[in-house]
Amino acid sequence: MAEAIRSITHLMEVASSRRFLAAVEPGDRGLAESLPFPFLAFVGEGEMKLALLLSIINPAVGGVLLLGPRGTGKTTAVRSLVPLLPTVPRSLCPYGCLPEDVETGGIDAVCPDCARKYGQGETLTFSDRMRLTELPLNAQLPDVIGGLDERAALHQRHRLRPGILAQADRNFLYADEINLLSDEITDAILDAAAQGMYTVRRGALAAFYRARFVLVGSMNPEEGALRPQIFDRFGLRAVVRGVATIADRWEAYQRVRAYQTNPRGVIEHYREETEIMRGEIQAAREKLPQVLLSAPTAALALQVAERLGIVSHRATAALFEAARALAAADNREAVTVEDIRTLAPLALRMRRSAFLTDYFARQGEEEQELTRLMDEVLPPAPPHPST
Ligand SMILES: [Zn+2]
Repeated sequence: MAEAIRSITHLMEVASSRRFLAAVEPGDRGLAESLPFPFLAFVGEGEMKLALLLSIINPAVGGVLLLGPRGTGKTTAVRSLVPLLPTVPRSLCPYGCLPEDVETGGIDAVCPDCARKYGQGETLTFSDRMRLTELPLNAQLPDVIGGLDERAALHQRHRLRPGILAQADRNFLYADEINLLSDEITDAILDAAAQGMYTVRRGALAAFYRARFVLVGSMNPEEGALRPQIFDRFGLRAVVRGVATIADRWEAYQRVRAYQTNPRGVIEHYREETEIMRGEIQAAREKLPQVLLSAPTAALALQVAERLGIVSHRATAALFEAARALAAADNREAVTVEDIRTLAPLALRMRRSAFLTDYFARQGEEEQELTRLMDEVLPPAPPHPST
């Protein structure tokens, strides 16, 4: 790499803006489906990329909603996260016992086998890569939450089987076109996302499942509305606008062409930086607990929210958690006013139902109001250090 990398956000900027096509020859076709397009090969869409990155670093951000027309690469971007996903601890036990169960509920909260292991200081978990779970567009409620195990029922045994939400525990859950899902499925997903667990009851049977997933939803606002209260349940709302300039559009087109003719070549071109980024994301997750948000900085953010007339506590909680994740991504121990300025639009826009009825017409109006308020409330940015 020609340039020293200062932070994850800097790496994204450098890698994504470099022109590289001479380096990739047309080659083996037909493998594009199984090999994700590199995240770093995305041209522009800084807001979408930042929101996705922060949600991986800090799941407490509370999920991301990607809003934009068809063909802007929302699904491709989500799939491109797979090589960047960090490792998470998973239970070794068929009952899913975890050390935190003992910490919160005492030794009786785990099975006898795990209680013995815990007592002897043995581990209850192993490290595993976070995975991407995609919600199929035609999923039915029993697929999503789980239901009676029909194979077991054939043998006169009644048993529940876990659904997609339980399989998504400690993973990334992607719900494409979330505005086209039925209300009962959307509610089940959002409730599980908020609580990190859910219970299924079928007659006399009941089962409890963990569902601590990072939720990413996408929607095209031109194809059906989303109930206003659902907007408020996503921590961040990233507007995917499509590539802005003609030069960037041409570049984006060429990268997609290069990937279609030689996916391995394009992936190889970004392999080293992708590995560095994955390591940095893992490091940022480990650093996150030490990142502090000072009371004066929080007060400024709360003032912007108040002046916008936002009453939702989710809004400011998401802003604070995203700001902490951004500080961790930049290897800092404190949230700055600049972090708040960067993330306030993502966390605070589309929180007020009055603005949701006529999304496209009023979006510009709300963004202008946000910018004006930030200029009034937040102190000016310090001059950039010359690089
Ligand atoms: Zn156990």
